[in-house]
Amino acid sequence: MTDSQPADSQLPRLLAGLHERLRKIPDGAVASYIPALAAMPPDLFGLALQTSQGLLVEAGESRHPFTIQSVSKPFTYALALDLLGRDRVRAAVGVQPMAEAFNALVLEPGRNRPFNPMVNAGAIAVAGILRDALGANAFDRVLATFSAAAGRALTLDQAVYRSEVETGERNRALAHLLRAAGVFHVPAEQAVDLYFRQCSIQVTACDLAAMGATLAGVGTNPATRSEVFGVEAVRDTLSVMLTCGLYDGAGDWVCRVGVPAKSGVGGGLVAVVNRLMGIGMFSPPLDQAGNPLRALLACEGLAEELGLHLFEASNPGSRLLPLLAG
Ligand code: GLU
Repeated sequence: MTDSQPADSQLPRLLAGLHERLRKIPDGAVASYIPALAAMPPDLFGLALQTSQGLLVEAGESRHPFTIQSVSKPFTYALALDLLGRDRVRAAVGVQPMAEAFNALVLEPGRNRPFNPMVNAGAIAVAGILRDALGANAFDRVLATFSAAAGRALTLDQAVYRSEVETGERNRALAHLLRAAGVFHVPAEQAVDLYFRQCSIQVTACDLAAMGATLAGVGTNPATRSEVFGVEAVRDTLSVMLTCGLYDGAGDWVCRVGVPAKSGVGGGLVAVVNRLMGIGMFSPPLDQAGNPLRALLACEGLAEELGLHLFEASNPGSRLLPLLAG
C-alpha cells in the first residue's frame, strides 16, 4: 500500500482487493447440523471494518443478514461481567482453553464449571446466570445490548431459532449438566432457550464490525458514542477471545493474525484491534476447525497489510494509523 492516498480510498481498496482475491476459494462446508443454516448460499462473502473514529469500510455482501451464532458469546459474557461482576461470573465459568470440541459435555476437572465462555457449555452457563439475574426480560436485555454495540436495532431470526429449538438436544444436555452442577438456578430449559435466542440474532458483517469496534473502543460504540460495556468487562472478554475464540484453530489464529476474535457456525467472525478498529466478516463455508475459511484468510491479509498482530515489531496497527489520519 502507498500512503499517499486518504483513508477513504485506501481502506476500501484493500478490502475490495481481499474480497476479489478470496471470493472464489471453493473449500469449506456450510454448517448443516442446524438445518436452517444449511440453506445459506456458500458464495456469499462480506467484509467490513469500523475504525475507532467511526469510519465504516465494506466490501462484498457486507449487508447480507445471517445469524450471529457463537459470535454472540463474547457479548453475553461482557454483559454478564458488567451486570454481575467478575467473581460471580468466574464462579460459573472459567477462562481456560479446552482441548475438546466446542459442544463437548465436559466441565473443568475438579471445578463445577465449564472451561471458558467461548464454548457452548460456557455460553450456556453465562445464559443461565443472566436468566437468574434478569428473569423473563433476559433476552430483551441481550438484544438491547447487542443492538447498542451494533449501533442499530437488531432482530431475532425466527426460522433459525425454531431450528435450534427443534434440534438442540446436545445444548439441552449441557444445560441440564450445568444446572445439576449448581452453575445456575433457573430451569435448564430457560437457560438454553436464552442461548438459542442469542445465537439466532440476525446481523451483517457491518454489524459485527461495529460490535468489534465497540470492544476496541473499550466498550463505547465509536459511531453512536453509546457506552455499552465497562472497561474491566471488555478486558476480560478480549482476553478469552484471544485464547479461546477460534474453536480448535485458536492457537493457529493467534500466530497468523494475532488479535482477539470469535467465529460462529453461521459464517460470521468478529476481530478486535484494540483501540483501533473492529473487523466483521461473513462467509458461510467453514474449515475443518469450524471457522469461516475465507474470513480467516481475509483477516490474515488485513493483519499483514496493516501490521495488526499484537506482537508486531512496531506498535500493532502502526501501518493503519497514517491511513486514519488521512
Ligand atoms: N447455536 C450453535 C450451537 O449451539 C452455535 C455454535 C457455534 O456457532 O459455534 O451449536
